[in-house]
Amino acid sequence: MTTIEAIFDELEIPYQPDNIYIQTIGSILQAAELVQLPRRVKLILAQPKNEVMVHFPARMDTGHYRLFKGYRVQHSNVLGPYKGGIRYHSDVSLDHVKALAALMTIKCALAGLPYGGAKGAVKVDPRALSQDELMRLTRRFTSALGSNIGPDYDIPAPDMGTNAQIMAWMADTYMATAGSEDRLAGQAVVTGKPIEFGGSHGRDRATGQGLVFVLDEILPELRLEFKNATFSLIGYGNVGSWTGRLLCQRGARLVAVLERDGAIYNPQGIDAEELAGHVALHGGIHGFHGGEVIPEEQFYSLPVDLFIPAALEQMVDADHAQMLQCKAVVEGANAPTTPAGDRILQERGIHVLPAVLCNAGGVTVSYFEWKQNRNMETWESDIVEGRLRQHMASAAARVRAARRRYQCDLRTAAYCAALERIGQAYQIRGIFP
Ligand code: NAD
Repeated sequence: MTTIEAIFDELEIPYQPDNIYIQTIGSILQAAELVQLPRRVKLILAQPKNEVMVHFPARMDTGHYRLFKGYRVQHSNVLGPYKGGIRYHSDVSLDHVKALAALMTIKCALAGLPYGGAKGAVKVDPRALSQDELMRLTRRFTSALGSNIGPDYDIPAPDMGTNAQIMAWMADTYMATAGSEDRLAGQAVVTGKPIEFGGSHGRDRATGQGLVFVLDEILPELRLEFKNATFSLIGYGNVGSWTGRLLCQRGARLVAVLERDGAIYNPQGIDAEELAGHVALHGGIHGFHGGEVIPEEQFYSLPVDLFIPAALEQMVDADHAQMLQCKAVVEGANAPTTPAGDRILQERGIHVLPAVLCNAGGVTVSYFEWKQNRNMETWESDIVEGRLRQHMASAAARVRAARRRYQCDLRTAAYCAALERIGQAYQIRGIFP
């Protein structure tokens, strides 16, 4: 039995290799071996600190009530308050949310932020609800979470299926129901709010912007330049559409996009701005005339310099990894590559730039928003962008230094750099009592 299997065994977690939580913790524990974290820290990190599950009713426009299931998983707060997005999606499970919470712990540690990791979700298809229904659901979910969230304790943010408006309803509900000391400071309970209600300049584009800043650091070693580099994207929502627009602004060419309703291809270049408007309006690429419709298999085998998954988890599996014809996979989405897919990409000499580095721009600008709220400040866009660039460049430098130290791939290096910081915190703080 390997040390990792022994930890799963001790915690009575059944070893299922296709389970996203097992995959995520498995790779974190592998890096923990390299960093030589003590067994007690590995045990602690192998399970979240708290798993909150709530069932709550919300009234539909027809007058009927539906019962919803919501989650908030708090993985670690050794470095600071829990931090992580809230997802609205019909296909979420507890293990899913646990995996994403653990990755937030790693991401915040790697980005040098004073936060731990968390994630939340409601099992719902938000596109099937009206705005009023979404508002009632969000307010009731926030009140069901109660004191499990708070500006000094656990600070949610947007993720798939949620947005600035939903964050505004969460903050407003929290402020209306929290104890007196939190009524004003309560605005900082969530980040990713609208600018008019305590949001930060640059938060909407932050994840895509951060990814581009990481590429600024890494492209030279891949012998690529933005100018004329070709790229394809899975998902054209917040992360995908901002990445698409910002890369095109730097001279790269978007040649293909896969959305939930199909794929399009245009070797001359898809108009990233126009496509953003189309997807925002229609919820998919159907009816967009700037590219030819192609089958999904063809999308995965198109020759491109950069292949950027920015939708769901586990989309780059072993089969897709065999099909890809790219120089690098740049992970915009969380956990888009399965361990089997990862192994094949490595064997085929395709670089993988890991999500915990590439998409850390979102939580970094969330941190800026939280700081602005707490200090009653507003930073101009250029200040936000400059500080984000610095943070992303430092995180990329930490990953490259760890790769030299541990002689490993970039994902393992990113986990090692984060775990070194977490390990030091445990060593200094000790374990209570
Ligand atoms: P989003 O909901 O704004 O966009 C997701 C897009 O993916 C949508 O356009 C949707 O139609 C598309 N999609 C859904 N299923 C698909 C499928 N099967 N095939 C192709 N496309 C599909 O979500 P987002 O905020 O852009 O998040 C995308 C990913 O990035 C998630 O993994 C999320 O956790 C991660 N992420 C988001 C942020 C952020 O700031 N929003 C930060 C870090 C990481």
